[in-house]
Amino acid sequence: MPVKPPTFRPQGQRSRRQANVEYDAKRGSARQRGYSPRWDKAAYVYKGLHPFCVGCKAVGRLVASEVVDHIIPHKGDQKLMWDEQNWQPACRFHHDVVKQKLEVMFAQGDVSAADLHLNSAIAVELTRDLVPELRHPPGVQNP
Ligand SMILES: [Zn+2]
Repeated sequence: MPVKPPTFRPQGQRSRRQANVEYDAKRGSARQRGYSPRWDKAAYVYKGLHPFCVGCKAVGRLVASEVVDHIIPHKGDQKLMWDEQNWQPACRFHHDVVKQKLEVMFAQGDVSAADLHLNSAIAVELTRDLVPELRHPPGVQNP
């Protein structure tokens, strides 16, 4: 039977699991942040009604929605969390990469709340910057 080789980790470096535990301790686990079974159910229904990532759609791609993203981060605010007008269907990439960048820009006051929509002009620009094959809009040939 093949045996998984031991993971080499420089002394003092935390394992991924340990890092996750510490991360959760800092911001609270998903459950502590309000992601209850009720949320799981609501998100499941929402994804059924909105099966495609809005950010991918904006660049002409159909990618399944995996996450219900809060357009304006709710930070524990129950009204923002449960307001469907504040939800958008997203793939992992758009939620984890594009939206995180937008939220940093939003926190710094560089973009407006409207720009947090994954189909905003800024989000589309970020998506094109991050995905090389999207840098040229359809119909434009690569040089
Ligand atoms: Zn996407």
